[in-house]
Amino acid sequence: MNSSEVLEIFKEITRIPRESGHEELMTAFLQDFAKRRNLECRVDPIGNVCIVKEASPGKEDVPTLVLQGHQDMVCEKRNGVTHDFQTDPINYVIEDGWMIAKDTTLGADDGIGVAAMLAILESDLPTGKIECVFTISEETGMDGAFGMEKGFFTGRTLINLDSEDEGQMFIGCAGGLETYATFDYTREVLKAGNTILRLAITDGVGGHSGDDINKGRANTIQLMARFLCGELNRGLQLILIRGGNKHNAIARECEAIVAVPDSEATTLRFNSFSDDVKAEYCRTEPVIKMTAAQYGCTEQPVDSEVAARLVRALFACPHGVEAMSQDIDGLVETSTNLAAVRMRDLGKIEVLTSQRSAIASARKMIAAKVEACFVLAGATVEHTSEYPGWKPNVDSRILAQCVESYKKLFGFAPEIKAIHAGLECGLFGEKFGDLDMISFGPTLRGVHAPGEKLDLASLDKFVDHLVDVVTNFN
Ligand SMILES: [Zn+2]
Repeated sequence: MNSSEVLEIFKEITRIPRESGHEELMTAFLQDFAKRRNLECRVDPIGNVCIVKEASPGKEDVPTLVLQGHQDMVCEKRNGVTHDFQTDPINYVIEDGWMIAKDTTLGADDGIGVAAMLAILESDLPTGKIECVFTISEETGMDGAFGMEKGFFTGRTLINLDSEDEGQMFIGCAGGLETYATFDYTREVLKAGNTILRLAITDGVGGHSGDDINKGRANTIQLMARFLCGELNRGLQLILIRGGNKHNAIARECEAIVAVPDSEATTLRFNSFSDDVKAEYCRTEPVIKMTAAQYGCTEQPVDSEVAARLVRALFACPHGVEAMSQDIDGLVETSTNLAAVRMRDLGKIEVLTSQRSAIASARKMIAAKVEACFVLAGATVEHTSEYPGWKPNVDSRILAQCVESYKKLFGFAPEIKAIHAGLECGLFGEKFGDLDMISFGPTLRGVHAPGEKLDLASLDKFVDHLVDVVTNFN
């Protein structure tokens, strides 16, 4: 078994529509794959698939090894591109050693992991019993891993093939939850002699609230709140504030519509604040834009008392890294993201934040800290969508075997890392008890966005390593 066989299978997978929540054709493809090769195949009611390769002769005593990846892919395309992810195959090119989908996502996350598993299933590699587990809807909330029943797979050692940096072995991930704060408000009368302005902060770099939380990028909501705080006792009235979007993204944009006394030089101060921000973030926010312009609006302002509490809470709310790992150098262990603020009808303003940590108690602590801030400001607070982390075990057996194999093949040790984001391993660990787990994969770049690409040289190494690990596993 070699990387070109894996690549051929992956090319076949690129022709199968498999957007999260619509994996039916992919599930059918996997069932058919197993059937044609006479392999045992189980499908659970939600669409998770487990295909079994029985032990080769003489390998019956080797413990069962679980390989795991996800069936679905993120479906994103460039503006103006006509591509129907429900029906069309992915267009890709091979260029300078990369396989690239230029206008859409490629789906190598996690199609390449799935392809590697299928190549192993159809190979005649001498291995112990292998269970290949293909989950659904990983990308939209890990529904497959959440809904899987105990006993769907039986092995106690699991290799997750959903990582994106060849040469790195992942042994831990963060869990997370979301914390919502809600403010009730009424409208008040616009003061005489006030001018309406629209303040906008746009073109922040943003990024992933886990992977990118330690990169020193601006949070545009917090910048806006910082400015508005300074204006509160200058007669500012808040008409609207809106910023951020998804719980797992750093807010790239924020706008506020405000009424300010004609006598106040608010625009001048906003411009000078913009200069300060550009100087403070001279490396991490090269193109951030801040503009103030007169605005036509008939909406009445939020009552001043609530506006002041809201703005101060948004400014004071923790955002960023809370603690670094004491086990693994350079790994963020606990963090929080001030993700979005939106005004709803019926007099509600909603603030969305999300917290991450590999350690359950630290996750609860940071969520409680965010809660404390908003409760002080008179908001009601709710926590939702909690999922478990995977705490690194540096004494893991499968880790030792993977490192040993890597050194033997390539002459140097792989990096051992954990990620500050979610992996399905966290859920498996929590649900199925003591599992020995690791995650690795070939190098991918630009995942979840058009232009996603797969490094083909890294695929060679990944496949050689995986083959060596599964054949020598004991
Ligand atoms: Zn993935």
